[in-house]
Amino acid sequence: MLTMHRQLRITIDELRYIAITCPDCRTAVTLDMTLPTPDNTGYSFAPSKCPVCFREYDSAIRPNVNQLWKLWVALRQIGQRVSFVIDLPEEKTAEAKTDTQIPATR
Ligand SMILES: [Zn+2]
Repeated sequence: MLTMHRQLRITIDELRYIAITCPDCRTAVTLDMTLPTPDNTGYSFAPSKCPVCFREYDSAIRPNVNQLWKLWVALRQIGQRVSFVIDLPEEKTAEAKTDTQIPATR
């Protein structure tokens, strides 16, 4: 049995969206990092509360998402040279055939 080690590589240029999942109602909000900040203040990229249940996001979400967005903006200057790498589940393939037919020679 052969095992293929697979990875997905995403450059900073290709990384465009970030999703925040509300810990209360499980709504996932996908934000486009290329667009102006949702609160239009320019100081915060992440919204302060869930748009569905209106609960404030956990205090760890907003500042960390804001920092990630600021880092993304800075890294886009060298976007093709920096990438994220994701390990994908291993893919098992059929066992390699080891017996080969050798033509008979006379
Ligand atoms: Zn919610």
